[in-house]
Amino acid sequence: MKPLRLLIILCLAIFLFSVPRPVALVKISKGTPGLVGILKAHQIDVIQELKTCFLARAERDEMASLRTYGISVSVLDRDSRGNEYFLVPSLSPARLSAVSAAGNLKPVEPNLYLFWTDQGDPLALLPADVERKPLPRSSILPFLKTYTRPESVPLGLKLNDMIPAIINQVSRANLRAYVQGLQDFQTRYSTTANCEAAGQFILGFFQSLGLEAGFQPFTIGGISTRNVVAEIQGETDPEDIVIICGHYDSTSGEAEVSAPGADDNASGVAAVMEAARILAGYPLDFTVRFIAFSAEEQGLYGSHYHSAVAREGLERIIGVVNLDMISYTEDPSEDLDVIVNDASWWLAERAGLVADAYTGLAVRKIVDASFVYSDHSPFWDEGYPALCGIEDANPNNPYYHTTGDTVDTLNFDFFEDAARTALAALSDLAQPVRVGYPRTPAGLEAESATYASAFTAIKNVNLTWQAVSDAAGYNVYRSTYPHLGHVKISSSPVSTAQFTDRALEAGTSYYYAVTAVWPGGLESNFSRQVESPAETARYEQPESGQEAAPVIWRWR
Ligand SMILES: [Zn+2]
Repeated sequence: MKPLRLLIILCLAIFLFSVPRPVALVKISKGTPGLVGILKAHQIDVIQELKTCFLARAERDEMASLRTYGISVSVLDRDSRGNEYFLVPSLSPARLSAVSAAGNLKPVEPNLYLFWTDQGDPLALLPADVERKPLPRSSILPFLKTYTRPESVPLGLKLNDMIPAIINQVSRANLRAYVQGLQDFQTRYSTTANCEAAGQFILGFFQSLGLEAGFQPFTIGGISTRNVVAEIQGETDPEDIVIICGHYDSTSGEAEVSAPGADDNASGVAAVMEAARILAGYPLDFTVRFIAFSAEEQGLYGSHYHSAVAREGLERIIGVVNLDMISYTEDPSEDLDVIVNDASWWLAERAGLVADAYTGLAVRKIVDASFVYSDHSPFWDEGYPALCGIEDANPNNPYYHTTGDTVDTLNFDFFEDAARTALAALSDLAQPVRVGYPRTPAGLEAESATYASAFTAIKNVNLTWQAVSDAAGYNVYRSTYPHLGHVKISSSPVSTAQFTDRALEAGTSYYYAVTAVWPGGLESNFSRQVESPAETARYEQPESGQEAAPVIWRWR
């Protein structure tokens, strides 16, 4: 071969190998048993969970190997490189054609579309009052799990006798004054100076309570805005954090001039402010963080920023109570909708039990990963449990995102009940320290050792915690569900701050908490919960060319 021809072939080969292969944006339908394990085994770059499917970035060979399991994979965009995608809900026919004229619009699920542009800023092309959620850029694969939910197991709550006195302090007059105060800024659209002033108002309020508080500034598309964050440090395990939050920015068809946003979402922020005012007077086992987010209406940017920083700092967030539109109803018997994803199901269960126990407000629990248009959703993407409390999953407020969303349209009977229920749910997680009871044991840790043979695998779980000086002993509790249904497994109180739970099924997750007991039998609050995670199922890939189903090893 002539040297010149060799050189050409060599250059061609280098060129072909160096051209990056297109990575498609795909929809992976749910329904295949063991799907999460298969996605993990193939390290698929999953970026969004929805009700019926996952959205992921995948190359051709990855799609091919998923299809060998019988998984339905469809391409939404052949080449995802450099594109920014937004989830948007279904719109009126007129809006729909306006949005699809501005870019690409593809249906993903009933009532859910994907929007992106080939050129131009997609954020500028979407009308200001259309709900949207940008697709995350980073993988959510590490946080995915298969969850088992009990059908009808009683999952009793540990009641705290401080909570009734706490929630009875919620003042209707205060809620009204906070909403009025926020509405008086005319607009809180996050690019405006008025929004900045509203942030200052909320910060001043937190500071007047004597709380540690500050701004969390961030930038989106050249616009600088800021979240407002305040904290009460926990007395027992301050590194364990419960969040109550709502967005303070607002929007409308004339967003830069007039967006009173009373229901959406001065109402949620007012409930956060009232919770801060009341809890400022109480010692709590765990840290409570109060947040008013900005730039929610642009695309959940404030909560996205906050949750990403939290994940990067390996923060231990027990749960997030996000409030968005909790004050409008025409129906006097309105219930509060509490929406969660699969991973946060226990949080909705607990909110329901809390409402039954403390406020009597009816709670409608909805598990729907496609409910993404509020500040809980970025926490889901970072693997944190979160719920959204809202007057209705399909808001029927006629003033929604209009200049007519004002304080005089709100129903304060419902609003007060919703604020009390949210504060009860928050207090239930943060655990007020009870006077006249033993201190809550701090620093619970779990370590497991697994013993496997060909047929079975078992584990021992070793628990340790910090001793409570005047405790006569400790009770140890275990559940197979997070934060619910704990059963005492120590037949009599153990005398040292250590316990080993033996011969457990290795393929099951166990959740532990301990309490301290006084000689008379009085028992403390639960300690923080620790998990001994299930050993993951093992998958054998089919040999190349074979279409056979995978061999799935489970310890059973
Ligand atoms: Zn909102």
